[in-house]
Amino acid sequence: MSAGKVKGLRERLRDGESIICAEGYMWELERRGFVKCGCFTPEVVLDYPERVTSLHEEYVLSGSDVVEAYTYYGHREKMKVIGREDELEKLNLNSLSMAREVADKYGKLMAGNLSNSTTFVPNDKESARKTAEIFKEQVEWAVKGNADYMIAETFSDFAEALIALEVIKKYGNGIPVVVTIALYSPDLTTDDVPAVEALRRLEEAGADVVGLNCARGPATMLPVLREARKVCKGPLAALPVPFRTTEKERTFQALTDPKTGKSVYPLDLACLQCNRSDIRNFAKEAKEIGIQYIGLCCGSSSNFLRELAEVYGRKPASSVYSPDLKKSYVFGSDVTGHAKKVAEHMRGTTLMEFS
Ligand SMILES: [Zn+2]
Repeated sequence: MSAGKVKGLRERLRDGESIICAEGYMWELERRGFVKCGCFTPEVVLDYPERVTSLHEEYVLSGSDVVEAYTYYGHREKMKVIGREDELEKLNLNSLSMAREVADKYGKLMAGNLSNSTTFVPNDKESARKTAEIFKEQVEWAVKGNADYMIAETFSDFAEALIALEVIKKYGNGIPVVVTIALYSPDLTTDDVPAVEALRRLEEAGADVVGLNCARGPATMLPVLREARKVCKGPLAALPVPFRTTEKERTFQALTDPKTGKSVYPLDLACLQCNRSDIRNFAKEAKEIGIQYIGLCCGSSSNFLRELAEVYGRKPASSVYSPDLKKSYVFGSDVTGHAKKVAEHMRGTTLMEFS
């Protein structure tokens, strides 16, 4: 099957449908042991492709409408860091064809991906030219790989996001574009454009969907998007990291361990992970704001994605495994006899009585 056989992104959004998009491949594959924390490059695509395909499938079965090609940081600048720049084209094309295959198998959309170059310098013409070149080759590969649309993500500079959008418009053969900003703190891009203003300008410049992804957890992302909803006309995207960011520590890079006071990014974040109720509440609030394009970024997992999908009215294949505590032999509602005592011991509620 080739691109275009399932209902397109633009048509779905136009008809008021929501899009659930699984992101966070880099983070999840690092957690599974196949991405190096530090450089965060995607050579797993070449070295263990079946790990990537399997994660694509897992996310689809858990509710994703989109299979995003794992080319995050698969650009010239980053591949240089690991000395594998010569494998750049192969990595991109392989990744796109793996994603295409899973998308076709399940009747989903396939998205190509651009990420921040990591070397961009605002107000520097040479840097802008070089960045556009990095993006151009990736966009051309995405077109060759039959991507249904492009995701351009995690830009902290507005100007770099705009370059990505312009390059996709120019070389992307007319495919739709989702552009998301990674908003750090304060609520300004790192080239000092107010967040909501940046989203408005990206929309005006022709992005089909604008929004925020990565960096912020649900609690510090949604208030910004609530403001953006008043200003932007088109569909908005929310793809936070599932971590408990706060007004004081707005990004997951800023979080500190409540026990030690030490910075937890990137190795020790587990102690501040959102739980399922946080994810469910995030999805409810996003729905109420009118967020049409939703997902989770770094730190996401299949069970979180399923929670979110279910709040958005979906019943993905893996919903047959959704929790049902009534079936627990100890925590069910009508537990009697010895099992009741086991439950009490588990919870420690008998501790006082017998000690
Ligand atoms: Zn992320």
